[in-house]
Amino acid sequence: MPDSTFDVAVIGAGIIGLSTAMNLQTRFPGLRVGVIEKAPGVASQQSGHNSGVIHSGIYYKPGSFKARFCVEGRSSMTRFCEENGIPFERCGKVIIATRKDELPRLQALYERGAANQVEGLQLVSGDEVRDRIEPHVNVIKAVWAPNTGIVDFRKVAAAYAKRILEAGGKIHFNAKLRRVVGKNGASVLETRAGEFHAKRVINCAGLHADVVANMMGAKTDLRIIPFRGEYYTLRKERENLVRGLIYPVPNPAFPFLGVHFTKTMKGFTEAGPNAVLAMAREGYEKRDFNLPDFLGTIAFPGFWRLTMRDWKTGMMEINRSLRKSVFVRDLQRMIPEVRKEDLQSGGSGVRAQAVDRSGNLLDDFRIERTKDAIHVLNAPSPGATSSLVIGRYITDLAAETFAIRDKAHSALS
Ligand SMILES: Cc1cc2nc3c(=O)[nH]c(=O)nc-3n(C[C@H](O)[C@H](O)[C@H](O)COP(=O)(O)OP(=O)(O)OC[C@H]3O[C@@H](n4cnc5c(N)ncnc54)[C@H](O)[C@@H]3O)c2cc1C
Repeated sequence: MPDSTFDVAVIGAGIIGLSTAMNLQTRFPGLRVGVIEKAPGVASQQSGHNSGVIHSGIYYKPGSFKARFCVEGRSSMTRFCEENGIPFERCGKVIIATRKDELPRLQALYERGAANQVEGLQLVSGDEVRDRIEPHVNVIKAVWAPNTGIVDFRKVAAAYAKRILEAGGKIHFNAKLRRVVGKNGASVLETRAGEFHAKRVINCAGLHADVVANMMGAKTDLRIIPFRGEYYTLRKERENLVRGLIYPVPNPAFPFLGVHFTKTMKGFTEAGPNAVLAMAREGYEKRDFNLPDFLGTIAFPGFWRLTMRDWKTGMMEINRSLRKSVFVRDLQRMIPEVRKEDLQSGGSGVRAQAVDRSGNLLDDFRIERTKDAIHVLNAPSPGATSSLVIGRYITDLAAETFAIRDKAHSALS
């Protein structure tokens, strides 16, 4: 069989595509698994531009995929890091109520985390937070999650890729998928690096997942709307203001967590990210504009319904993006000592947020299947934390949907 023929092709070498390919290849050693990636390396999009937090599973609705995958994902991620020599730190996270009116929501968050069986979760008083956790915060009461950690997810993705190759799988870079044509019950994947043939396909294309699903004729009714998250970094001499992870009580109507302070494994401390509509799917800079992406967004009815409903939040986010003073004011609610001059412009990430035709931001992970394909259509945060569990889940789904039966040989016909 030529190198370009696979039993299962995975589109996208982000952390979820790689975890899926790693799981498939190690569970079914005889299966020919190939990853098709448009960038020259792994983790070029969301997986390489995130906050690097190993979440513990507090926020998510009990019973949801997010709650189940994240709680288990945190422990499997830390185990994977230990086994593979990837540096990580259990620095802990506090979610702080800074005003009395936030207390009922803080209590509800604590109860949710407890229902999700988040290990070590505690409600702590303001004095306790300042005495033993974060001395510089303004806080009335907080939820403390001591097992929340930090890692560089690019290193995790690189370790997944190494495992795929060691198990006999293939990864093809610089191979942007442009068209999919059905032929004799299989798919011909036309890419910038030539044609690949695959009996089955798993779409993990992140910001382009809806485009790839449409290429394959899947009826999705969703659109990926890109939301940029911008970060500032704390100047070195002010890093003493933050020991670990400091988060506000989030707005329950919005799936993003609010700007927060994040110690990172990259050697600096970040503040952010905000959430502004990006004018390009890969719009990392304010000036980035892609006409087809933009037209696609505004032609989607769900975008207008979302805009009509949440325009105030949208305007506030734009204001905070354009005016550093507004960003700083939000941060000062948590750490009053932070000054504008303590913050330097940092990087950014773009979230692939699926929106339905009614304008709802999909909160939970969304994975759909047809007879010969699986599409990961919504994998927002905590997708990186949960990646090992999502990879296992998709492997189970693939084994069932594609009738992969044999451990030693590909049973796909
Ligand atoms: C700002 C931000 C902060 C976040 N913070 C956290 C956090 O702290 N903790 C956490 O757990 N999660 C976090 N997340 C979420 C996490 O990063 C994502 O859930 C995860 O990275 C999704 O991985 P993915 O593989 O689905 O997508 P991606 O990493 O986006 O990968 C998709 C891949 O598909 C490729 N691709 C797309 N189209 C094609 C095509 N046509 N042909 C070939 N290849 C293609 C892309 O190049 C890309 O490499 C954050 C996300 C963002 C954006």
